Amino acid sequence: MTYQELENQIVGLQDEGLELFNAGKSVLGKNILATHVGEYSGPQVLIQGGIHAREYITALLLVEMARNLHNNDNVKGGGIYFVFLTNPDGAQICLDGIDFLNCDITKNYLLSANNGSTDFSQYKANVNLVDLNTNFDANWGEGGQNVFCPATEDFVGFYPNSEREVQSLIDFTLQTKPSITISYHTKGNVIYYGFEGESESNIVRDQSIGESFSELTGYPLIFTENSTGGYKDWCIQKLTIPAYTFEVGDESLPHPIGIESLPEIYNRNKDVPLLALQKAIEYSKEIDFTNPFVQNINVGVKKNEPNEESYCARILRKFDRRSSNRCSNNKKW
Ligand SMILES: [Zn+2]
Repeated sequence: MTYQELENQIVGLQDEGLELFNAGKSVLGKNILATHVGEYSGPQVLIQGGIHAREYITALLLVEMARNLHNNDNVKGGGIYFVFLTNPDGAQICLDGIDFLNCDITKNYLLSANNGSTDFSQYKANVNLVDLNTNFDANWGEGGQNVFCPATEDFVGFYPNSEREVQSLIDFTLQTKPSITISYHTKGNVIYYGFEGESESNIVRDQSIGESFSELTGYPLIFTENSTGGYKDWCIQKLTIPAYTFEVGDESLPHPIGIESLPEIYNRNKDVPLLALQKAIEYSKEIDFTNPFVQNINVGVKKNEPNEESYCARILRKFDRRSSNRCSNNKKW
């Protein structure tokens, strides 16, 4: 599969009558595409995929979900947002390699992080070599696998919420005010819930909802430990809403999971969005989006219109400022 083919799958939904809009922009200026099904009044659910580059099959899973919930009478009393591919630049690097990039500085930066190999099929990060699902401001930099130098995976970024994709998803979440969020990842067939520091009553609530997801999919439900800075973690810590990470696909499958596995994954997950909406409605009195944290959220640097040219100039300055002798995996920035 090429990146163009992946993007065509998302954009093609418009031909079926779904309205697409931008949830934000990537570092290289790509649109982060989203859609909505159901009603805009009432509780909302936000489901996002593809935040890790090589896990782009989750974007195709969300395309299939949105397609089948469009004009579906069962979506009522609220609505569901789908953010198909939170990390489009990373997905393109994973699928196409780095030849598409015009900026030699970026290419060399990525090549050196990839040990000189032009095979980027295992790539997880965004184009800045930041692992987006460790970059959110939720116990940032305290995860067991975190690294503090740019890398194809696990690099937390130079500061929390530093990445445009992360800022975009935060902004979009604050605008859409979901009662529940679900993040689709690969792989392992498990569901993660909860976050350290979460209140006892919210853990009980999240576990109860999570058990319903577990029953529906057959995926075991696991409390999150030793992992921080994810979108789910941020939703739980800053918004105090229930949020889940679904790791789909059998552990034995190699990354990236091939699209031949999509039907099986879809079948196990196809009713998850409707169940999430049902739970959002059921728990709507207990889930308060307008909690005090929302007023004080740091969404990082001021956004300007990104494109590859401006990115190329920026990355050069970053190299000057942060030469390799200052980069150590033993300390945070
Ligand atoms: Zn992932």
